[in-house]
Amino acid sequence: MYIVHIASEFAPIAKVGGLADVMLGLGRELVKQGHTLNVIVPKYDVIDVREMTFEPNVEISRSYFQGNWYDNSFWKAHSDGNILLTLLESHHPGRFFSRGCIYGCHDDVDRFLYFCRAALDWLQDKEDTPDIIHIHDWETAACAFLIRQGPFRKRFENTKVVLTIHNMAYQGWCHRDNLENIGLSGAWFASPERLQDDFGSSLNLLKGGIVFSDYVTTVSSTYAKEVLTQEGGKGLQLTLLSHASKFCGVLNGIDTIFWDPAHDKYLEDRYTAEKKSIGYEEILAGKKRNKEFFLEKFAMGKSDEKPLLAIISRLVPQKGIELMKHILSHAHKWKMQCILLGTAPDPHVHWNFVELEKYFLNSPDVRIVLQHEEGLAHKLYAASDMFLVPSLFEPCGLTQLIALRYGSIPIVRKTGGLADTIFDVDFSERSFSERNGYVFEHPNEQGVDSAIGRACSTWYNNKELWQKVVMQAMRSDFSWEKSAKEYVKIYSMLCKKEFR
Ligand code: ADP
Repeated sequence: MYIVHIASEFAPIAKVGGLADVMLGLGRELVKQGHTLNVIVPKYDVIDVREMTFEPNVEISRSYFQGNWYDNSFWKAHSDGNILLTLLESHHPGRFFSRGCIYGCHDDVDRFLYFCRAALDWLQDKEDTPDIIHIHDWETAACAFLIRQGPFRKRFENTKVVLTIHNMAYQGWCHRDNLENIGLSGAWFASPERLQDDFGSSLNLLKGGIVFSDYVTTVSSTYAKEVLTQEGGKGLQLTLLSHASKFCGVLNGIDTIFWDPAHDKYLEDRYTAEKKSIGYEEILAGKKRNKEFFLEKFAMGKSDEKPLLAIISRLVPQKGIELMKHILSHAHKWKMQCILLGTAPDPHVHWNFVELEKYFLNSPDVRIVLQHEEGLAHKLYAASDMFLVPSLFEPCGLTQLIALRYGSIPIVRKTGGLADTIFDVDFSERSFSERNGYVFEHPNEQGVDSAIGRACSTWYNNKELWQKVVMQAMRSDFSWEKSAKEYVKIYSMLCKKEFR
């Protein structure tokens, strides 16, 4: 099958969050399963091109925007896992992808609509026709309806479009003008059964993606149910309900090569639980050296006597930032050390965390590191004993899966993909061998306190149980193999329909 992914992120070169990891992990697995894959991503100026080897033949293609045609260069490179990456460099004077960031510009809607149009303009001149175009989130949702219009309609009549919603909270609200910029009729799309929102005031790119795609997925089964409710659907629940027959949840996996404590290039000391003969002591020795290094780097009290709890997160309300602050401020209560690694897109939240960072500067037990740094994240997964994800909602969540692989026991709120992947050591209905963390139901201080209390009590008082859970966690399988097969099943089902 020839599959084209069009997305706004790709790990590790253009990464803000989990979408980037998904593109790498799912991509690697699709290639491994024998499919032809091309991943199209904008060539942002923040991409470190020194890390990449481009093929010499850069293709030039023109694309339409606001009544004119502009040149784009398409650079080809092979990423890890032999994934063919196509990076789109725009020569539009708006310098859409040369803004020193991936998201957060006033004209994000236009930047990504431009990207959708340019990607399709380029693809339509290629000899091969994709069987599947797989698009992700609002940034590329417009491909679903653009492809069924004008010259694209005939060219791609046999191509099926799959949309994956990685987070319902970001929808790409826009106006008729924005659609007209890429050659679409704003008036035609501005109807309730197409892109218009319930209030009739604006258009919604994610809604258009849902309406016009041949199939829609989201990233866990629990989240797939949650988004059909008023609370989870963020205004799109009725749209999803009326398209429910082409909608399901496919659980994300993690890329077990990129995230591998046995071979991780960022770690001080590598360790594994994969060999049968390996015991907890050996794993612990590997983790201990990473922990010592980390505590030393951040001038924290060097101690084997306390568990180290990590948080690695975007600092947005969804992630439960009030609960994070509560736990950081009460670390002493549980005799633990805490490190938060995160960044806040909202300046108010950022400055609030800067204050906290200063407050804890001389604390031996708490650090706040306001950076986005891939290497530091890998080191912290390896150094920590526990990993907190107190999200108010969480479509899938990858950090808890990565933490498991590095032997850091997740403490999570029971929501979305967290509920589908983490099973409480004390209370889960699953067999003991599947239990891998601590779970709390209600996103309040009482809830998170009780889960942290139980985790710390086990760490201090029942080492044997803790060790078993760490071994189980590290050996659990959240690789992409199974989920990629589910995607292939969906792709095949769509393509077969065509041949009937
Ligand atoms: P989301 O996509 O909502 O941000 P996920 O849990 O799906 O959340 O994925 C988060 C990804 O981003 C993980 O790979 C995590 O390690 C990474 N990440 C988050 N914050 C940082 C940071 N400050 N520095 C480095 N990596 C980070």
